[in-house]
Amino acid sequence: MSVSIFDIINNVSPAGWVIVIGSFFTAVFWAVIFWQDIKNRSSKFFLFFSFVVFMWGSASVFFNASIGTPFIYNAVTILYFIAGFVAPTLFFAIDAFSNKESRHPFKKFAIVFGPYLILSLWFFKPGFIVGYERLAGVTDGRIVFGELFAIYIFYSVTLMVLGARNLIKKYQESAGIFRHEMRDFLITFIVTASVALAGTLFSPIFTKNQDYFWIGYIAGALPFLIISGFIFIKYSFLNIKVIATELFITIIVFVLIAELFIASSFTDLLIKTGVTIIIIFSSSFLIGNVRREIQSKEKITRLLLDLDRISQRLKVLDKKKSEFLSIASHHLRDPLTVIKGYSSMLLEGSFGDIPQAVKESVEKIYTSSGHLITMISDFMDISRIESGNMKYVFADVDIKKLVIDLADEMKQNADRAHLAFSVEVEDEAVSGEHFITVGDDGKLRQVFSNLIDNSIKYTPSGKVSVFLKKSTDGKKIIFNVYDTGIGMSEDTIGKIFKKFSRAEGVSKVYTEGTGLGLYVAAEIIKKHEGRIWAESKGEGQGSSFFVELEAKK
Ligand code: ADP
Repeated sequence: MSVSIFDIINNVSPAGWVIVIGSFFTAVFWAVIFWQDIKNRSSKFFLFFSFVVFMWGSASVFFNASIGTPFIYNAVTILYFIAGFVAPTLFFAIDAFSNKESRHPFKKFAIVFGPYLILSLWFFKPGFIVGYERLAGVTDGRIVFGELFAIYIFYSVTLMVLGARNLIKKYQESAGIFRHEMRDFLITFIVTASVALAGTLFSPIFTKNQDYFWIGYIAGALPFLIISGFIFIKYSFLNIKVIATELFITIIVFVLIAELFIASSFTDLLIKTGVTIIIIFSSSFLIGNVRREIQSKEKITRLLLDLDRISQRLKVLDKKKSEFLSIASHHLRDPLTVIKGYSSMLLEGSFGDIPQAVKESVEKIYTSSGHLITMISDFMDISRIESGNMKYVFADVDIKKLVIDLADEMKQNADRAHLAFSVEVEDEAVSGEHFITVGDDGKLRQVFSNLIDNSIKYTPSGKVSVFLKKSTDGKKIIFNVYDTGIGMSEDTIGKIFKKFSRAEGVSKVYTEGTGLGLYVAAEIIKKHEGRIWAESKGEGQGSSFFVELEAKK
């Protein structure tokens, strides 16, 4: 009876095919992982190990299919010869996983593989390590183990134990995420290696057949490779989506190539080849795209995380700055108020008449301390606004009364600056009976005084006029301060309500400004659900500031 290799292939059971195909794709899985970073030592050794496992699985399937044929004598030798490589390649995979680059890689290779290569010479003498015995009367036979089989087992088991010892050591030494990786890997190794050893090495010895071989293989070797792959992906931060896409496409390509071998005719072969080529090209394009897209997504995620961290940090800094400002401002303002108070009393003659020269100096002290107080108040307001601690007490406010009161004070400032100053309130007959709004009296006073102050400050000569009127429908109160001062460009108008912003060049001439007054004013008006805005025909053409508030019905 002549049996060809094809007859044996035909003999392969469905379970056999599962083993061959499963271990083939497990090797492909590792090839894809390796492909992500071809410089990585561990994935290189794992790929090699997965290839040996594939060969070993195929050899065992071949062995099973050869039972009852003359090939069985060779099949058993091939099987055990290949199986002998499993332990050393596994040892190297684990070693690469748990160790840095070895200083003497070749020496290590020689020490690990050397003994096996010498031992494997005895495979040429059937029966010394392993053999097969046909039994009379039965279609099947049994594996027989020779004198050197004990050395063969000793070699394999020793390497696995050494590998496990390396892993345990590494696990104990490592910390953080690497320790987790080692832990997961160690558990996987111990469980799957025990199953694999029991199934593939010890069960044939005790049962004298290969019936349980597949358990060791399918429940031991393959899960070990697959789970280690996932552990590797997880802890090396490889992208599982890229790997899944590549694996999926590779499987499709292999299936298409396999299809070529079963083409029914030449035309069929041509069509299938064409389809395969198109799919290979388009899928390499697809993989490239997936990679690029994922990379840019990862980059964006990283940037977002960075931004988030930075913004958190900035928030903390900003809060600290506000706290500091608030404390510092309090400490500065109190003594300044005392200075201003006493200089005012001096000027008013509370301590008797003072000579003109002294009066002039005291006046300067008075104005300067006033400026400083405004500035500090602005700083304090900023820190209150930013920390959300600005308190408002809303009640009915008579804007007309407020503006007239204020005008009295402001007139003195305008006089001192040699500016004409006027206040005009629309006749109540036109505007309706009152100018009452619901608001915070002190805060609104602060806004109007700031606007009038600014007009006086930024007007070298000419006049400052204040108007108060109602909108035509009577629903709004409109406050307007108009001056013939330095004016503003459109660009300036666009930014003056922002924090710390002043017109370009203005700080050289008007040194005492901070650029905070209008920001604070805008915040206050916002809380009153009103509007504040500025108008100017341009630089040197004067400015007009408006505030619009809801009139109480
Ligand atoms: P400060 O007056 O302390 O600089 P403000 O917030 O009150 O801060 O004003 C911001 C800027 O707006 C001023 O620096 C100035 O450039 C411009 N500005 C404000 N009021 C006037 C005005 N009446 N005429 C011209 N420019 C003005």
